[in-house]
Amino acid sequence: MEYAKLARFYSKIESTSSRTRMIQLLVELFRETPPELIDKVVYLSVGRIAPEYTGLDYNFGEKLAIKALSEVLGVDEHSVEEKVVELGDLGDAGQKLYEEKGPQPEDRLSVREVYETLLEIARTTGVGALKRKIELFKRLLLKASPLEVKYLLRTITEKLRLGIGDNTIMDALVLAFTGDQRNRFHIERAYNLSSDLGYVAKVLVERGLEGVKAIKIEVGRPVRPMLAERMSMPSLILKKLGGRCGAEYKYDGERIQAHRKGEEFWLYSRRLENITHQFPDLIEFLKESIHHDFIVELECVVIDPASGQIQPFQALMNRKVKYVSRYHILKYPVAGFIFDILYLDGEDLTLKPYPERRRILEKIVKTTERINLATRKVVDNVEELEAFFHQAIEDGCEGLVCKSLAENSVYEAGKRGFLWIKYKRDYKSHLADTLDLVVVGAFHGKGQRAGHFGSLLMACYDPETDQFKTVCKVGTGFTEEDFRKLEEMLKDRRMEHRHPRVNSLLSADMWFEPFLVLEITGAELTYSPVHTCAWDKVKPGRGLGLRFPRFTGRYRLDKRPEDATTEREIIEMFLQQKQYKAY
Ligand code: ATP
Repeated sequence: MEYAKLARFYSKIESTSSRTRMIQLLVELFRETPPELIDKVVYLSVGRIAPEYTGLDYNFGEKLAIKALSEVLGVDEHSVEEKVVELGDLGDAGQKLYEEKGPQPEDRLSVREVYETLLEIARTTGVGALKRKIELFKRLLLKASPLEVKYLLRTITEKLRLGIGDNTIMDALVLAFTGDQRNRFHIERAYNLSSDLGYVAKVLVERGLEGVKAIKIEVGRPVRPMLAERMSMPSLILKKLGGRCGAEYKYDGERIQAHRKGEEFWLYSRRLENITHQFPDLIEFLKESIHHDFIVELECVVIDPASGQIQPFQALMNRKVKYVSRYHILKYPVAGFIFDILYLDGEDLTLKPYPERRRILEKIVKTTERINLATRKVVDNVEELEAFFHQAIEDGCEGLVCKSLAENSVYEAGKRGFLWIKYKRDYKSHLADTLDLVVVGAFHGKGQRAGHFGSLLMACYDPETDQFKTVCKVGTGFTEEDFRKLEEMLKDRRMEHRHPRVNSLLSADMWFEPFLVLEITGAELTYSPVHTCAWDKVKPGRGLGLRFPRFTGRYRLDKRPEDATTEREIIEMFLQQKQYKAY
């Protein structure tokens, strides 16, 4: 398969803002892809070289790309830079320069060659790595056409940004290879257990749907996390859970999925990034505590070693550095509170009910100063639940996660459901919870803030349409430092027009690729004539908006845009709010 075919596909995707068309184009591409290349084509279509959890990146910035390009074209770097400034994009500049004076290759690039070379570039590290990376990339450039150069440059600098989400890929895979949307469930399940869509695609093509159904969890490969619904009234929580539940402290730290196979450990974040190197101390604590192969989930928090007191969430941010040193380990000591187990010594435990998983944890975990099980209490009445909630807050937690004790209380990978219900009422507002919203646009400030951001346009995520729908414009809660930081973070995500997956009636002064998630609080959710979240779903001709929104100061870097609060959750929060007000 020629790389030119992929480049033409990218070009068509770029010119469409319709998701249906996007799926159709993907279906055509997948059907025309030889079976042995399907995983590679899936990765390349989302601008990656391997699943996100491998942490494999090109580490090839724009400067290196310009250097490689200028060497192939035989011009100085300055003239390439000028073209980039003129056209505002490296890919466009490369294409234009190639049209004017690019090489005229005899050989054509194949997808395999591109993939293998890009993989080698990503894997090249250590002394002399930069030189070697440039040499490898030049080999591709020498054989490329102008259109191919455009996308090679965008791919290597990690700015492909076609906006193809996981859900769109899954829809296309189902249609391309099974022809029946009802099979979506199996694909999604396999993805939730393996976190690797390229692998799922490969199994689907090679072994069909039966092969996909047989995909199991494996140590070393992250499982997509089970998530909680939210409710703000203890009586309703108990009712929903059948009158009785396992209430656990909701620790306010970082969720970590820890894997162990013999002496090998892997740690994955909430968004499934490999963060093993960030917590060497936690690995030692786990080693001492559990003498088995396992996959467990825990919340990692910073503690005061003298008192064992849990420190506020912000303290953990000091551990988010590239190189964790002894200084970080001693100054910000961590502890883990384990709340679930998914796998033990070769056995998948995800289909066992929660009480059994908890029993297994109680049996195998030796609690130490740094490893504990999440504090929990089985409760069956409102008074007890309320009292336990207040105890959790006093102990430095955010509230409770109330868990179903029923027979069907399995570990639902990648799902947000009512088997877990979080209870963390914000007493200052009518909201049951804060919202995690994605920045999709910005408006210029006035007065002192002229020429800078004045407010941000924030959106929720709708997995059904794979779109980001607006919920509010937020301009309060930010410090000057926040605005400066945001401008820096969003600089490279600027777009000329609204992103095809953003659904907005408002026109922002600046548009951004959806990527940054911020925690937003507010007074209440109300009907809105301008926001597209829940449009026509709770009231004809109206959406839902957040009144008096305010940034809480928390950057949710642990969430991908697709992990933002969903439209469905906002509708549920709105309905609960009405119920709460009436109560
Ligand atoms: P939040 O912003 O509330 O952390 P979230 O989308 O990351 O939300 P939810 O499933 O909605 O995740 O809420 C549960 C989160 O609470 C988990 O992701 C985990 O990080 C954290 N947590 C803390 N203690 C527990 C516990 N005992 N059981 C389950 N999750 C817990």
